[in-house]
Amino acid sequence: MKLCRFDDDRLGIVLGEEVADVTDLVTAAAPMHPWPVPLGDWFISNLNKMRPRLEDLSKSSPKKNLASVRLLSPVANPGKIIGAPGNYRDHVDEAKADAEIHRGNLVMTIEHHGLFLKANSSLVGPSHGVPLRFPNRRTDYEGELVVVIGSTCSGVKDTHALAHVAGYCCGLDMTLRGPEERSLRKSIDGYTVLGPWLTTADEVGAADNLMIRLQVNGSTRQSCSTSSLIHSVSKVVAYASTFYTLHPGDVILTGTPAGVGEVRAGDNVELSIDKLGAMKVAIYNW
Ligand code: MN
Repeated sequence: MKLCRFDDDRLGIVLGEEVADVTDLVTAAAPMHPWPVPLGDWFISNLNKMRPRLEDLSKSSPKKNLASVRLLSPVANPGKIIGAPGNYRDHVDEAKADAEIHRGNLVMTIEHHGLFLKANSSLVGPSHGVPLRFPNRRTDYEGELVVVIGSTCSGVKDTHALAHVAGYCCGLDMTLRGPEERSLRKSIDGYTVLGPWLTTADEVGAADNLMIRLQVNGSTRQSCSTSSLIHSVSKVVAYASTFYTLHPGDVILTGTPAGVGEVRAGDNVELSIDKLGAMKVAIYNW
């Protein structure tokens, strides 16, 4: 199943070139929680339970043309957004060469850096685009496979990690270059773009051989299979869960392959991943 959020917080099921609007079912089921709300994204927490009714409703619910809707982040309220630094050998090598030239932050592997967190307020969908707050400094795109956690887990073994994955989507881990901590430079509003929709894990199968393609203004900049991940999806989930409990809706950006580069206002970034669809994202000045 392919689930999208669109327009004014509508929930849709993507059926070919159309979106079936299933919002009513979700708003009817969503509890009005007293403060404080439990950790995790309510919809992702309840996705498996609601799935048969969502599929039923999608047959009769109103449809819109997919091309006519504004796509939002498919996950509304992740508890945390986790990023992986160097997780493709070719990107670690290019970043190392670049850091020596620019005296920037060195990108090393997960063994060295571990993982990092991005502010939830950085999360947007493709229709929002990426506003550059610091147009005089360099901002880079990083196209990445994104894992969305489906059920709570902690200290899970990699052999069992995929059982806790709800699905996958495309992600842009936008990065302001410079000396500050990663978590600050990557947490600017709009610097985490998820889309075009969440494809449930059963439709994806093993996510370890999907082509990631990123274009800027129609020219290919990144083209790499997730088979080149140093730490596979299951290993990244397991590793993250040794440090913190993962909750439904938590998002893990699994790292970017080689070909990272700068964007400027007016650029259009298109990211596509096999089985997960393609998203177009505009870059503009804040
Ligand atoms: Mn990244």
